[in-house]
Amino acid sequence: EAKGKGKDRFCFFQEGLNEVVSYKRAIERDLKIALETGTGLWLALQPLFAENGKTIVGAEALIRWNHPEHGLLSPAIFIPVAEERGLIAELGTFVLREACRIVKELDIAWLAVNFSALQFRDRALASKVLACLAEFGVTPSRIQIEITETALIGDFEAMSSTLAELREAGIRIALDDFGTGYSSLGYLHRCHFDKIKIDRSFISQLNGSGSTDAVVKAVMELANAFSMKVTAEGVETPSQWRELAAMGCRELQGFLFSKPVTQDEFKALLRKGDNPDDKSGVE
Ligand code: C2E
Ligand code: MG
Ligand code: MG
Ligand code: MG
Repeated sequence: EAKGKGKDRFCFFQEGLNEVVSYKRAIERDLKIALETGTGLWLALQPLFAENGKTIVGAEALIRWNHPEHGLLSPAIFIPVAEERGLIAELGTFVLREACRIVKELDIAWLAVNFSALQFRDRALASKVLACLAEFGVTPSRIQIEITETALIGDFEAMSSTLAELREAGIRIALDDFGTGYSSLGYLHRCHFDKIKIDRSFISQLNGSGSTDAVVKAVMELANAFSMKVTAEGVETPSQWRELAAMGCRELQGFLFSKPVTQDEFKALLRKGDNPDDKSGVE
């Protein structure tokens, strides 16, 4: 099988420079093919829950790639390569179109998609996004855009005007991985995010009394002051859930409630949520 492909073979975990170079080249080449043919790339969906841990309020789309040789690849592997090799705009288009298709098909209030900071270099991004939604007949309030806090470091003026245009049209904007970057209060004030997502690294350190608990609490108060919603990312234990609910966090996401799942599995989750007699859900 592998015979004759020797030149193209690579190992993800080899550290040598030559291997890294050929690994990136191979990812770039295969990702181009995947985007051209529309094969192998798909969106996993992770539900976001109300504080009761049962009601699904929305979902986040997380890209996956079934690589023909290497199996399922995580975005941590190929998003950076797509960014570096100029493929991120095309990938972003694929993600948004697929998200529009899915949100129409599923009975959910909204679907969040992750945008790379580099996508905002396109001054026409907002009008392209809105044209895509119009093409699919998707109401802007049903799509949320997540950008990571580190994205704010780039061309802030360009980014904030694009975000303002999107918000004006009714698309909600979430600041992802909050706490891991360097966003100042000034950024928060000028950008008008609808939501902040507190990074998993904070949630995992909640213990009921430590300094992280105070930080998370302060972030929730800050969000309140700016009229932003708050999501806790990476909730993995019942005690984290209890503490976040006690702090007034109304939106929860994490393996405790559900991992990212396929579209079919997501439909099953929705059906289960609808059935009041079902006792198998998370209590
Ligand atoms: P993110 O947007 O912060 O997404 C949350 C990540 O945390 C996801 O990893 C998710 O599977 C994981 N996660 C959720 N709950 C838990 C939990 O309870 N415990 C743990 N340990 N992990 C949890 P994933 O899917 O590997 O995505 C990684 C990152 O890749 C995302 O972080 C996002 O920044 C990026 N990404 C994913 N899809 C896309 C996309 O379509 N476009 C772009 N530009 N970036 C994407
Ligand atoms: Mg995200
Ligand atoms: Mg995040
Ligand atoms: Mg993240």
